[in-house]
Amino acid sequence: MREKGCSEEEILSLLSIRKEKDTPYSRILSSMCTLPHPIAVKAHQMFISTNLGDPGLFCGTAELERMLIERLGTLLGEPGAGGYATSGGTESNIQALRIASKLKNSKRPNVVMPDSAHFSFEKACDMLGLEVRSVPLDRELRMDADRAADLIDDDTVCMVAIAGTTEYGMVDPIGELSRIAAERDIFLHVDAAFGGLVLPFLENAPKFDFSLAGVSSISLDPHKMGMSTIPSGCLLVREPEVLELLNIQTPYLTVRQGYTLSGTRSGAPVAAALAVLDHLGCEGMRAMVRGCMKNTRRLIEGMETFGFPSPVQPDTNVATFQCKNAPTGWKVSWTRQGHMRIVCMPHVDRSVIEAFLKDVSGKGPGE
Ligand code: PLP
Repeated sequence: MREKGCSEEEILSLLSIRKEKDTPYSRILSSMCTLPHPIAVKAHQMFISTNLGDPGLFCGTAELERMLIERLGTLLGEPGAGGYATSGGTESNIQALRIASKLKNSKRPNVVMPDSAHFSFEKACDMLGLEVRSVPLDRELRMDADRAADLIDDDTVCMVAIAGTTEYGMVDPIGELSRIAAERDIFLHVDAAFGGLVLPFLENAPKFDFSLAGVSSISLDPHKMGMSTIPSGCLLVREPEVLELLNIQTPYLTVRQGYTLSGTRSGAPVAAALAVLDHLGCEGMRAMVRGCMKNTRRLIEGMETFGFPSPVQPDTNVATFQCKNAPTGWKVSWTRQGHMRIVCMPHVDRSVIEAFLKDVSGKGPGE
């Protein structure tokens, strides 16, 4: 660290030089994050100094967190759901598995999850000493419910299903998995980190939420399709009391107990997430999701005409292709099976899709 501080001008120059090295969102086709909505930026700035780690000091911000959970619970079919704002899908998934493990005391606990589960579950299982039982996917890359049922035994503390897989945007057969979970009394956690703010706004979307009796908890990330600022995740539980299983004593704070994983938690992304939902309303969210799905279909159709077919028709706005190389300058990603993967987030608008397709066709700039 320098002995003598430098001027604001010098600092800002140091920062902007580094910022210019970042890839602009207009070229990022691989991310599940996006440019925050302008209202999210305003709300974030307003709450920049708040700390939900000590909610008694920031009662207004804590109220916003309760409002956010109430909005999302209602959207997901259970207005009385409990929950809290996490740092993202990873933390929500860890906490869901902690709850599930505490609900069923097993000496050799295992978790049944699809091959498509996000790598956050590997971290969670490693930390919690849980055996991972991977369920193969069917031809449409959804979890095979029969195979899942076969893997469940007396030591299964949780079954995980995905609503909007990271790699292919698919939704597992959650109706069927919910029935199995209810019959066999298994905690069913739905990872809807991505799909949670897509599926409720799609016509004829598959059911995935608390409207299915067997669903116990849901992860949903406003910093993905909720256009909130980073970091913004939410964990929701059907029965609010289960959160208390995670309670520890928090001496010297304004509240005596806490169940969150992080201690200090910024209220800024919470305010941002709520601001976007209330500003857009269902109508605005529907329009945004409709646009992303339309762009996904246009991209799939365009790639197909160039001889790059998709391995699956996605349930959400994640497009994948049998295509080995991306044109220069574009940031795409690759699935474990070697497919090119593009997430049609709100910043990947029609003009971005057309520019990408033009470059793929070889007629783009630089060709
Ligand atoms: N779950 C799913 C389905 C995801 O797609 C992701 C991230 O892409 C996560 C969990 C992890 O979310 P985060 O990176 O916010 O921790």
